Amino acid sequence: MRLSRYFLPVLKETPSEAQIVSHRYMLRAGMIKQSSAGIYSWLPLGFKVLRKIEDIIHEEQKRAGHIPMLMPTIQSADLWRESGRYDDYGEEMLRIRDRHDRDMLFTPTAEELITDIFRSHVGSYKDLPLTLYQIQWKFRDEIRPRFGVMRGREFYMKDGYNFDLTKEDALHAYNRHLVSYLRTYERMGLQAIPMRADSGPIGGDDTHEFLVLAETGESEVFYDSQITELKFGDREIDYDSVEQCQAVLEEFTSRYARTDETHDEAVFAEVPEERRRTARGIEVGQIFYFGTKYSEPMGATVADKDGNQVPVHMGSHGIGVSRLLGAIIEASHDDKGIIWPEGVTPFHCGIVNLKQGDDEADAACEKLYAALSALGLEPLYDDRSERAGAKFATMDLIGLPWRITVGPRGLKNGVVELTSRRTGESEELAPEAAVERIAQIYGVAAKG
Ligand code: ATP
Ligand code: MG
Repeated sequence: MRLSRYFLPVLKETPSEAQIVSHRYMLRAGMIKQSSAGIYSWLPLGFKVLRKIEDIIHEEQKRAGHIPMLMPTIQSADLWRESGRYDDYGEEMLRIRDRHDRDMLFTPTAEELITDIFRSHVGSYKDLPLTLYQIQWKFRDEIRPRFGVMRGREFYMKDGYNFDLTKEDALHAYNRHLVSYLRTYERMGLQAIPMRADSGPIGGDDTHEFLVLAETGESEVFYDSQITELKFGDREIDYDSVEQCQAVLEEFTSRYARTDETHDEAVFAEVPEERRRTARGIEVGQIFYFGTKYSEPMGATVADKDGNQVPVHMGSHGIGVSRLLGAIIEASHDDKGIIWPEGVTPFHCGIVNLKQGDDEADAACEKLYAALSALGLEPLYDDRSERAGAKFATMDLIGLPWRITVGPRGLKNGVVELTSRRTGESEELAPEAAVERIAQIYGVAAKG
């Protein structure tokens, strides 16, 4: 993309309504624009990161054997009356009446709808296990929408639902989700710690929340510092293996890690003092096992091996897709702007032309642009006739992890400059070598 043709409405002033850094940078970098309280338009740069996050989630869900689908945002109240949640959900549910005076609502979550789909189409234990998921907009009429996309009213969520014959099978689905979430967050450059949590209005027995440590987090968390040393890394997991998933769950949940809702001072005191930590965290996901809470009242049963109709065991599993942008920025920024992890960066690298209009500099930039594009990478080429300082400031603000700087002086010596946004370190090298380095970083094969 050429910056001169892109839509990147960068703000010079720091918006006064933004209290936390991620909100400030998302507004300043022209990623989002609020349309009303807690409701945002996703401008091109923000939308690009949202899509990257979504892509990673899809890849990891499919790797775990889960099946994507899509359910409507507007639902009939009838199903919610069946489960009893139409009244229980309270003020957070946006209720709508259509022209025929029918009660409708904007989905805050989708247990009822998916349970209805299941009961309409699945009748035998032979069709299990089954895990369906979607990435879809949700609405919760939060009393205090704030912090930008972190606590919106309209927000984007991945919600998945498992259906299993037995509790044992459903607990395997739970563990499988935990494993796939660990992988998912790590690919986004995040450490999200599974913490024992409270089940809230969704209801259930087993539940973990995934928290990213950040000073601006809304949850108070208590944990054993050893947990922050754990990495999922690139281990290969057989998601069908009960033992393997169980082992990962045990590894990542055996140390003390809880939110204030489930915190137990007496148990925490057993952690050696030098490892006890109190901090704040951002909830970026949650997994639940809730058994037959919805399948029983809604009659979602299957025939078991002996032909008896039994309610299925279920769980639901959410990732805060739009909130993740805020969480990633909270975890990765400096005083100049965002620092995107490679996994989610909107463009793979920036190209800054120090002397737009100089034949040689222009030609070198075009060549870099073409070479990177040919590799399937997306560079953002700042081809505007701006001062170098302004170009650097924009690149730093929008946080591309790598920048190639091209100027007449360097070109005389046959070099361009490659700079890491994270470390600020620069290196001079031939343009071809810069392309090769970027290709290596993103794991694509440079053509010889
Ligand atoms: P919270 O406690 O933060 O209100 P929740 O526990 O009610 O969230 P879940 O029902 O677990 O939310 O939804 C799954 C995920 O969706 C959460 O882990 C969170 O990342 C995200 N999420 C929930 N509410 C919002 C919101 N208002 N804005 C943005 N993301 C949200
Ligand atoms: Mg939650």
